[in-house]
Amino acid sequence: MSADSDGFARARALMVGEQLVRRGISSPAVLSVMGRVPRHLFVEESLAPYAYQDGPLSIGHGQTISQPYMVALMTESLDLKPEDRVLEIGSGCGYQSAVLAGLCSRVYAVERIPALFDKCRGNLMRLGIRNVTMKLGDGAPGWPEEAPFDAVLVAAYSRSVPEGLRESLALGGRLVMPVGGDHGQLLVLYCRGADGKISRKTLTACRFVPLMRDPKPSAR
Ligand code: SAH
Repeated sequence: MSADSDGFARARALMVGEQLVRRGISSPAVLSVMGRVPRHLFVEESLAPYAYQDGPLSIGHGQTISQPYMVALMTESLDLKPEDRVLEIGSGCGYQSAVLAGLCSRVYAVERIPALFDKCRGNLMRLGIRNVTMKLGDGAPGWPEEAPFDAVLVAAYSRSVPEGLRESLALGGRLVMPVGGDHGQLLVLYCRGADGKISRKTLTACRFVPLMRDPKPSAR
């Protein structure tokens, strides 16, 4: 069976139509990249048949690959331009990284669980995706050496936006992240205006895993 057999391609096209377009995702660029990235190659082989279903899936270590619609909504909200540099916190298996990588010039992806970091790197390499720079560790402080970023995507929730991430937004930059607590969160889009002020817009209710804080940066 080829890596992207007809069955998976069909399932992916259905996912785009029924889960994304029907719910209001309209960016041609986002729909096109999600119609191309083989989501089934990012999950364990036993879960591949479920990769295009309308929900999150386990990627091990108590973490999940987000529902396709959530990936699309977060990505679309960032309104990426081809020249943008994007910071991604919580890259997990790398599916969201691959989607972002198809829409901007470079993704800076941070993941704190070593096994997922390795999985992400392997998945991206296998697909020949070369514009993702990865770092192992706590992403909450941001990536000061590479800041500022045109966009920041955080795939784990916190009570509020960590200061380091807020600080890493360029003028005109956008940051999307789930904000809340254990019982539920809101997906919030923050935009830094040309005057430096940050505005906030709630996109939807959501459920993510928590943003974990490491007492000290993990070495590797
Ligand atoms: N978008 C990913 C999965 C997101 S699950 C995918 O497509 O697979 C959230 C991820 O955030 C998990 O992999 C978790 O380990 C990671 N994470 C949680 N807290 C973090 C932190 N402080 N820094 C970096 N990664 C973190």
